[in-house]
Formats: sequence, structure tokens, C-alpha cells
Amino acid sequence: MQMQMNGLPIEKQGYRFEHCSDCGLAYVAPMPEDEAIHAFYQDYHKSHQYQAKLASKIRRARNRIRQATGDAGEISLRANYLIACDGANSPTRKALGVGWRDLGYDQDWLVVDVEMIRPHALPNEVLQICDPDRIHTFIATKDPYRRWEFQLNDGESAAHMLKHQTIHSLLETWTPRDSYRIRRAAVYQFHAAIADQWQQGRVFLAGDAAHQTPPFLGQGMNSGMRDVINLAWKLPLVLSGQCAPSLLDSYQAERDDHAHDLVSWAVDMGHLMQHVAATEAAERDGEELPQMQQTSQKSGYGQGREQPPIRSGVVMTAQVSNEGASGYLLPQPIVRNSNGEEIRFDDLLGAHFAVVSHGPARFDAASTAAINALKIKVIDVSTLEIVHGKLPDLLQAGEALLLRPDRLVFGHTDPDVTLDSLLTRLAESLHYSR
Ligand SMILES: Cc1cc2nc3c(=O)[nH]c(=O)nc-3n(C[C@H](O)[C@H](O)[C@H](O)COP(=O)(O)OP(=O)(O)OC[C@H]3O[C@@H](n4cnc5c(N)ncnc54)[C@H](O)[C@@H]3O)c2cc1C
Repeated sequence: MQMQMNGLPIEKQGYRFEHCSDCGLAYVAPMPEDEAIHAFYQDYHKSHQYQAKLASKIRRARNRIRQATGDAGEISLRANYLIACDGANSPTRKALGVGWRDLGYDQDWLVVDVEMIRPHALPNEVLQICDPDRIHTFIATKDPYRRWEFQLNDGESAAHMLKHQTIHSLLETWTPRDSYRIRRAAVYQFHAAIADQWQQGRVFLAGDAAHQTPPFLGQGMNSGMRDVINLAWKLPLVLSGQCAPSLLDSYQAERDDHAHDLVSWAVDMGHLMQHVAATEAAERDGEELPQMQQTSQKSGYGQGREQPPIRSGVVMTAQVSNEGASGYLLPQPIVRNSNGEEIRFDDLLGAHFAVVSHGPARFDAASTAAINALKIKVIDVSTLEIVHGKLPDLLQAGEALLLRPDRLVFGHTDPDVTLDSLLTRLAESLHYSR
């Protein structure tokens, strides 16, 4: 899948798409802004002139949402549904009276972005440094930029940390002072919290408005993108009348648990870093070694903790396990088609549901009607050569997969589930009405 934002490939906007081979997490790695991004946003704002600050009051009239605005004069917006991606302080969330579930991680961190202006020997990777004197993170973003994040120690103020003198001394052991220029420094409070409710009637919370995470897994913005991708395929099915509005109840069912798992994992990783640093400090000072929290074990990169599946909603719940295919994102190999062209598998799948089989798939009349109505693509992977990456082993074993438009596996055939029954179960889960 090529990721796009505002109609442009994310790579052109300073992001890169990654897929972690250790834990299977798909993520977009943000990079510090550069001139190309500035130029893009200047152009974007020229073509999208209207900006408004949404009033915190949400009014509903005849089942439609209305919002009045402030800055640019009073206007009314009418919409069938509202997706509030208005950030961690979300005025919409507050207006709806939705509270937070706190997952217990509040720490101040200094984030420093620099531009490297001379040849340097910095590593080209992400490192979590469990230094007993100060936990910190190093991120090799897009050249020529690099990022560090430093946890504030007890008694340190934001004003002190933001002084260039402080920043230079923090970077001293990493790279010579004349090798970089500071581009941006800010102190953030990292939180771990999930909104109590993700939907009230026709209003949905998404992004930081619905969840906040410490950034150790790089999953904050990525979780937000998963939220809107989830709604982006469900809303058209409801608005077109093909599916009942109750399909949208699956939004919170799917996204809440998934985001919760990832935020908890990031919190565990934060605690793991603290534990390693505290252990080193205790060894150095000849003190008793601290106990590690059980949930922190195996929370480091490549230690075996896997990305979570969705466990309820539009998925064959009985097939979801800690290692199956159902509920998980399909990997994206590069394949060669019969014309000899190399393409990403997601591009082949297109924007709708898909049945993927190894060998020709056959359907009964009801399934054929659903395939036509929902524009389900049918792909026989035996006609493709995998150039890079892999597809689930289930396919080689003769089973077929049914994919959702967001590339999560809805379910697969097995001795008890035929392809036709899989499509029937999909129609039921979607609250498909015609
Ligand atoms: C140090 C740091 C490192 C991070 N690293 C990563 C990473 O590696 N990977 C990752 O995926 N994520 C990362 N994140 C998290 C990521 O930045 C956020 O999750 C993401 O920006 C949230 O996007 P959002 O659109 O939900 O909210 P925001 O980016 O906060 O956007 C909300 C928007 O709503 C607007 N708004 C608010 N109120 C109103 C109103 N009343 N009317 C109109 N507009 C309004 C705001 O102006 C803003 O533009 C990091 C965060 C931090 C702090």
C-alpha cells in the first residue's frame, strides 16, 4: 500500500514507511520538517484557503451534526458524521464529556532535532540508551537530520533543558559540537491514556484525541492513521446504504483494544528502560538490584513481543489467536505479475475487499452477488512470483484469505469454513443489507 496524506505520497512529506521485521509492526517514521515539507504546506494552504477554529459546542439537529466556528466569522457545518482529530487536548472530546483511562506513564522529555552540517559517525538506527544517569533515545531520521529525546531528571526544569548550553553538553558524547546545528528543541510531557469512549452517536474521536502514548514504539501517529483508515472504508458503506449504521459500532471495538495494547507496550518499554538503568546504577553503587515488572519482560525491540491483532468487530473472532493470520495486517510482498512487472501486493489488491487464494477460487450464486456488490477483488497468487517478502503460509497450504480494505485479514478458510461461508460471515459482520 502506498501511504498518502493530503493526496501526496508520505515520502514526499518527510515521512517514511517501515515494517519492523522483529515485531511485525507497520509504522510511519516522521522526520523533522525540511524545506520540501514547508514548500508542500505553503502550496497546500494556498489551495485550501479556509481555516476555522471549531467551536467547542457540538449541536445536533435532525440527526445531523452542526458545528459553529469562531475565527473567520460564524459559519455552520452540516455533516452526517464528524471525525474529531483535534489532538490530545481535543475540544470535541471535552465537549462530549469523554474522560481518559490513564495507563500510568507521565514523564517530561526534552526532544532535540538537529541538522548535521559536517561528516559524522552517528549510527543509522534507533537506539534506546538506558544510561543510569539519564535515559535517552537516539533516532536516525532522514539525512541530514537526527533526533534525540532525553528524560528530565528530578528537579530539572524545561527552561534549563532548553538552553543551548545544556543541549550541547547532552550531545557532547555523541558528536562534536561543530558537526550539527540545532533546529528545534521542545519539552513534552509523555502520557499514556485512552479515551473512555471513541464514539458518541455520529461523532468519532481519532488520533491523539482518542489515545496518547509515550513515543518509544513510534506508534502515536501510526495509531491515529489506523483510526481514520478504519473509518474511511466503513463510512462509505454506511452512507451508500449498503451496510447498517451499526457497522460503525465496530470502530471502538476494533481500535480501542488495539491502541490500548500498543500504548501498554510503549509504557512497558519505558519501564524496561528505567529498570535497566536502575539496575546499572544499583550495580555501580553496590545496592540491592531492583525487581523488573513482569509486563516489561520481552518488551524491548526484537524480544518477541508481537503486534496485536484486532480481536473483535469485523473479523472471524474464533480464528483470532496470538499467531494466526485473522485479525492481523497482511504482509506486503513485492510480486511479479504475468507481464513481468514488479508491483507491491497492496497495489494489486486495490482499495476494496479481496479474496486471495492459491489456485482458482469458486463461489456460489450468493457469494458471487456479494462479490459484485462489494467490489471484492479475487486474486490467485499462484499466477504471481514473490520477489521480496512473503504471504501467509496458509495460502500454500491451500486455504484462501478474505481481506478487508484496510488490509486486515477478516478470516480464512479451514476444514470448518468454506469460502462461501466466509463471505456469508463477512456480510453478517458488516451488517450488509443489500
Ligand atoms: C517527541 C514526539 C515523538 C513522536 N514520535 C512519533 C513517531 O515516531 N511515530 C509516530 O507515529 N508518532 C510519533 N509521535 C506522535 C505523533 O506526533 C502524534 O500522535 C500525532 O501528531 C497526532 O496527530 P493528530 O492529528 O491526532 O493530532 P495533532 O497532530 O495534535 O493535530 C490536531 C490538530 O487539530 C487542530 N485543532 C485543535 N483544536 C481545534 C479546533 N477547536 N478547531 C480547529 N482545529 C483544531 C490543531 O491545531 C492540530 O492541527 C511523536 C510525538 C512526540 C511528542
